[in-house]
Amino acid sequence: MGPTHAMSGAAVGLAVAQILPTHWGGVTTAEETFIYAGLAAGAALLPDLDAPSATVSRSFGPLTQMLSRLTENTAQTLVNLTRGRKDKPCRNGHRTVTHTLWSALAAGAGATALIGALGKPAVIGLLFFFLGLGIRGLLPEWSKKTDWVIVTGLSAALAYGVWNFVPESSLGLVMGSAVTVGCLTHMAGDLATKQGIPVFAPLLPFKGRRWWNLKLPRFLSIRANGPADKFLLMGFTIAVIAQIGLVASGNMRDVMMGLLNLQVVAQGL
Ligand SMILES: [Zn+2]
Repeated sequence: MGPTHAMSGAAVGLAVAQILPTHWGGVTTAEETFIYAGLAAGAALLPDLDAPSATVSRSFGPLTQMLSRLTENTAQTLVNLTRGRKDKPCRNGHRTVTHTLWSALAAGAGATALIGALGKPAVIGLLFFFLGLGIRGLLPEWSKKTDWVIVTGLSAALAYGVWNFVPESSLGLVMGSAVTVGCLTHMAGDLATKQGIPVFAPLLPFKGRRWWNLKLPRFLSIRANGPADKFLLMGFTIAVIAQIGLVASGNMRDVMMGLLNLQVVAQGL
């Protein structure tokens, strides 16, 4: 599901960038919109860093593989420390801690704090990291054949290329929110699979279990890499292309605001 995750992150990121509260500073230019969407697309793969075998865990070679193993082990330990009476012992941390609402919020808060402390270099650093994940996610076949050093170089070049477009003033909360948006989009995708994910664990116990998976009704759930997954990927790709056109021509905000207004009108009826 890598490509679907990355593409859905980009699609949702492009849309959300237009409706951020103005008192957060907002995303004002087309370039900032693309930076926001780039962060969201990469962050839409972040939760799967808990799977050392996933393509995304090979993004930066041995470094991300180490990080991935550490994430999986830590997640496993945390689940076993917090499990309820009826939870089975956890033997693999994949799809646990990093697939909760709290992790999505913490990842965004971490990014916001980093940007708050270091400013522009932190935005570029995060962009470099998340673009690396995004490229892996979008082009798994290509990046499997390509050496990780090339993927790393490409992310670095792209991140460096946008240096002039990142404003000097702090956009911490705005860009940090892109990370949370990306993680939540990933979770929505996994939620749609038959297995589901533990969105509220371990804080919300249910029938003696703290690590229970939230799932969609069976008829709505899809199979990873199955036909519905491919169909969604196509839908998100079309949405991304259409939105890039709208952002570049300066019409995206009007379209989003128009949609929101329509909803307000519909609710008022
Ligand atoms: Zn996942």
